[in-house]
Amino acid sequence: MNIPTSRRVTRQVKIGALCLGSDAPIVVQAMTNTDTADAQATAAQVESLARSGAELVRITVNGHEAAAQVANIRDLLDRHGIDVPLVGDFHFNGHRLLAAYPACAQALAKYRINPGNVGKGARRDEQFCQMIEIACRHGKPVRIGVNWGSLDPDLLARMMDANAALPVPLTSDTVMREALVVSALDYANRAIEVGLSADHIVLSAKVSQVQDLIAVYRNLAVRCDYPLHLGLTEAGMGSKGIVASTAALAVLLQEGIGDTLRISLTPKPGGERAKEVQVAQQILQTMGLRAFTPQVVACPGCGRTTSSFFQALAQQIEAYLREQTPVWRTRYPGVERMQVAVMGCVVNGPGESRLADIGISLPGAGEHPSAPVFIDGEKVLTLKGAGIAQDFIRLLDAYVQTRYGPATPHNQLEQLLHASSLIMPPTDSL
Ligand code: SF4
Repeated sequence: MNIPTSRRVTRQVKIGALCLGSDAPIVVQAMTNTDTADAQATAAQVESLARSGAELVRITVNGHEAAAQVANIRDLLDRHGIDVPLVGDFHFNGHRLLAAYPACAQALAKYRINPGNVGKGARRDEQFCQMIEIACRHGKPVRIGVNWGSLDPDLLARMMDANAALPVPLTSDTVMREALVVSALDYANRAIEVGLSADHIVLSAKVSQVQDLIAVYRNLAVRCDYPLHLGLTEAGMGSKGIVASTAALAVLLQEGIGDTLRISLTPKPGGERAKEVQVAQQILQTMGLRAFTPQVVACPGCGRTTSSFFQALAQQIEAYLREQTPVWRTRYPGVERMQVAVMGCVVNGPGESRLADIGISLPGAGEHPSAPVFIDGEKVLTLKGAGIAQDFIRLLDAYVQTRYGPATPHNQLEQLLHASSLIMPPTDSL
């Protein structure tokens, strides 16, 4: 796979044991939507997100009850063996909460500060500096995260006035984009003046429109060397949110811009929060930037495959791979790069199955009811009958153990291929 080769050169920020920026892998983040004051519920959701693959989890710290529980949440996670770093999300009262709850300030691995929401007028600078001083005291990095919806209104007003005085004023959208970048960079400079190391700063400048996001981050990328946190804010629900986030982030990632990402999906009521983690991982994996889980190559199906068996098998295999991945990754290094093909008929089935590590080409409508299986490019057997799905999963297990596991005198795949109950030797010329 051709992958983007040149990541933008950045500083590297340490967040607990995690490295962000420079040559570190692009980090997948998530954010909880529980009430942080409910330590049990928040720890449970952080654990679930971490087990789904989130490498950094942000929790809101919006009041005294929440701040008072942060150290407890950290403790609950540690007791469950979950070492994912926690980021505290602060707006309006972060300076007071961090000062009043030193255990919270210490338990968090990073603080997210939105300069547009740290106070009004002269208070803004004063309260921003208070938070930076606390970060310095605890040795914590910060994300200076500006946002279109809460951009520093004084800065924007000054820039709009200056623009209006130009002989040919720029569009207000252009000024807004520039104001986001200026705000992020100005506050990073202010943090350094207060004493924060430049190696403790991550920047973000989130907007909700794809073209704006691309323009803002391209601009930010050439004007600083801080690691950048990518995300389309308020991306929306379902496929709209996924598509919009992917469209924006893929362009930037392809250009080497972005050191960590979070996909801001709005879940359905009671919906799965971990979806945002899966989408972030899929973006990175399909672009060849990281590998998290074996991938299923499945054709879309068409009039040549009229039974639902093919779709059901593709779904079953994908679910099986996702379920097995946490265990497989520890036992079978490299398995996350495996490609499994599940194809609907003879038109592209054998070809795609040969290109995958292991693949099955199911019979289309009117075809002989048998399913050739290909391993490492070779057709090794043909499955048929009611147990095709189970037999293919047995082959998949044996393939993973044989290809990615330690060498043993007993080659499980060979044994399985010679088990007469399963094998139906290749009989045609596919
Ligand atoms: S492989 Fe067969 S079933 Fe799948 S999309 Fe192509 S023609 Fe249709």
